[in-house]
Amino acid sequence: MNRGTVVITGGAGFLGSHLCDYYISRDWKVIAIDNLITGDLDNLQHLFSEENFKFLNHDVTNYIHISEDVDLVLHFASPASPVDYLEIPIQTLKVGSIGTHKALGLAKAKKAIFVLASTSEVYGDPLVHPQPETYWGNVNPIGYRGVYDETKRFAEAMTMAYHRFHHLPTKIARIFNTYGPRMRSNDGRALPTFIYQALLNEDLTVFGTGEQTRSFCYIDDMVEGIYLLSLSSVVEPINLGNPDEITITDFAKEIINLIGSSSNIVYRDLPIDDPKIRKPDIKKAQEILGWSPKISRHDGLLSTIKYVSERLNS
Ligand code: UDP
Repeated sequence: MNRGTVVITGGAGFLGSHLCDYYISRDWKVIAIDNLITGDLDNLQHLFSEENFKFLNHDVTNYIHISEDVDLVLHFASPASPVDYLEIPIQTLKVGSIGTHKALGLAKAKKAIFVLASTSEVYGDPLVHPQPETYWGNVNPIGYRGVYDETKRFAEAMTMAYHRFHHLPTKIARIFNTYGPRMRSNDGRALPTFIYQALLNEDLTVFGTGEQTRSFCYIDDMVEGIYLLSLSSVVEPINLGNPDEITITDFAKEIINLIGSSSNIVYRDLPIDDPKIRKPDIKKAQEILGWSPKISRHDGLLSTIKYVSERLNS
């Protein structure tokens, strides 16, 4: 007996494919949609034999046609790494704006629950620390990162408008840095880059002084948080992330040590508008969803390193 049908846009991506696994394992029927610009079918190969899984190669900035009933729409399609959204800024803007509109339209037509993948980037280079959901952010709208930050801010506004005007049951997850198996080696983000560099005994490229901070959440914790959010009745945005904050230099050192690599750290220019600090305030998720991350950075890094080294050796 299926619990329902979930449509996951961006289903072949890092977060999207893990969500496909999670909902399938909980007896949902899953329809994954992806145009494979940054997604990868390798992330879904193991699901193609599942009776309850279907994949549509489709760009969600165009009308989304699904003939069957749908209970839940998870809108996760978007480039998510700074390198990606700087390379494809227009697609990034379109999927967050037009794509969100189409995904909301699908949810409305099907009378389905809608969950938006928003981001800690809505807080920009934050002036409040840690960042609670009540903080409105410090974003440069015309900066290089603005294409991602502003389209996600627009997506939140659009989602709330569908809730207020059409009474659609909507939820907004503000997702902080998340990592784990299936991140692309070339996506440019600190975590896959550092692991590949350390495994190959190459220099780790830390940008700026390396004193900027991030707080990294392991994928299994994140997926559980999104699942609980999708079944909850909360409407206002909710932060999901791991508050365990670390400087980027210490993070690079931690990866070198865990791998036992002979790599050194080299410093490169800091990208423009790179946030100096980031740490989620997750009180709301703890209180409303009863959720908090359980997997330590040590354990999460070990399983991610194992995945990357298996791919390097295959
Ligand atoms: N970073 C780095 N070296 C890299 C890639 C990223 O030092 O090879 C830095 C980046 O400037 C930022 C932090 O690591 O301060 C996290 O970057 P990431 O791209 O992973 O995600 P962000 O949190 O900036 O979206």
